[in-house]
Amino acid sequence: MNTATDWTALRDDFPILRQQVHGKPLVYLDSANTGQKPQVVIDAVDAYYRDYCANVSRAVHALGERATAMYEGTRETLARFLNVHRDELVFTSGTTNAINLVAYSWLLPRLRAGDVVLVSRMEHHANLVPWQMMCERTGAQLLPVELTPQGEIDLDDLRAKLGPQVKLLAMTHVSNVLGTITPIREICSMARKHGVATLVDGSQAIPHMPVDIASIGCDFYVFTGHKVCGPTGTGALWAKREHLQSMPPFFGGGEMIREVSFERTSFNDPPHKFEAGTPNIAGFIGLGAAVDYLSGIGMAAIAEREQFLLREATARLRDVPGLRIFGAASHKAAVISFAIDGAHAHDLATLLDLDGVAVRSGQHCAHPLLQWLGVGATLRASLAFFNTLDEIDILVRALHKARQLLA
Ligand SMILES: *Cc1c(COP(=O)(O)O)cnc(C)c1O
Repeated sequence: MNTATDWTALRDDFPILRQQVHGKPLVYLDSANTGQKPQVVIDAVDAYYRDYCANVSRAVHALGERATAMYEGTRETLARFLNVHRDELVFTSGTTNAINLVAYSWLLPRLRAGDVVLVSRMEHHANLVPWQMMCERTGAQLLPVELTPQGEIDLDDLRAKLGPQVKLLAMTHVSNVLGTITPIREICSMARKHGVATLVDGSQAIPHMPVDIASIGCDFYVFTGHKVCGPTGTGALWAKREHLQSMPPFFGGGEMIREVSFERTSFNDPPHKFEAGTPNIAGFIGLGAAVDYLSGIGMAAIAEREQFLLREATARLRDVPGLRIFGAASHKAAVISFAIDGAHAHDLATLLDLDGVAVRSGQHCAHPLLQWLGVGATLRASLAFFNTLDEIDILVRALHKARQLLA
């Protein structure tokens, strides 16, 4: 553990954590749904609107130049954070938008009847539905890579399904339901041997561990800003330069062009080619502040802290009678899905809320996974570095109490 970091003191950075809910201190265990924002991020968004609100890339006046420098500064910050080149980072409104861009701009022109797109059984709908839509248009087939009983990717099944008919393998880096950390480097290397392109959904990885995209060996990597302490409506697509060059723009409009006449339009270079219209300027400035904030703590330290909380929470939850945890991968992020025999997940979540504990209940945008687990809904406690052992005890106590009420 990084003994230099006072994790409890870091809670003061998050104004939202100071409040009470139903008369109880808020215990926020829903970071996999959206991350809370530290004051520095709120301040960065606020400063843009107060001090230098202007459009980016178009104005030569002082405010416009400052806004552009700050907005593009986030691209630099993210590029360093993820070990990629800034020109390979396309800003999007989030993971969903980034995946749809790849689906329409890269996959659709290449997909033919009889082709296959592979996804894992545990994908978020954002990394499933867009591919399914492309398959329906073209007569291609979307196939799942199955899981082992522990909730890990079945590498034998993946091996069996890879082949020349596969045009893309889209796989999560970390499952938002089971917490499974997939061996993504190995998976991408297997795909590469078959000439299969790979897209990695990093939505749940970027907030919780150091991620070096260059070392993964994927073709596309996507993530969403609001889960990394950043504002909603931000995110990015990283893609190999050759892909960005070969992809036609998806949205047309301002900012993405070089020259326009009624006869033809020549497009700007990537990444701007894919960023039509006025972007979420304040949001991306906030995202830059969020990444600086996390870098200041250190992603390796955050990962270690969260692994500690995960071990403790898993052990303490096991004491609750009738509680079943879904997902027993050997590498897991701090996401714990569980059910309690005889108690409905939504009823439990409602009772937990009365004790100030915020968890998610439901299907977590992963219906095929829930079908495989054979349950209608799970409760999900997802931890962040600012959570404490006391909060885990409050969760466990609240579960004991709720179970007795519902049994
Ligand atoms: C949250 C999440 C998404 C979708 O992110 P949006 O911000 O809603 O676009 C996709 N995949 C995973 C694994 C997620 O956790």
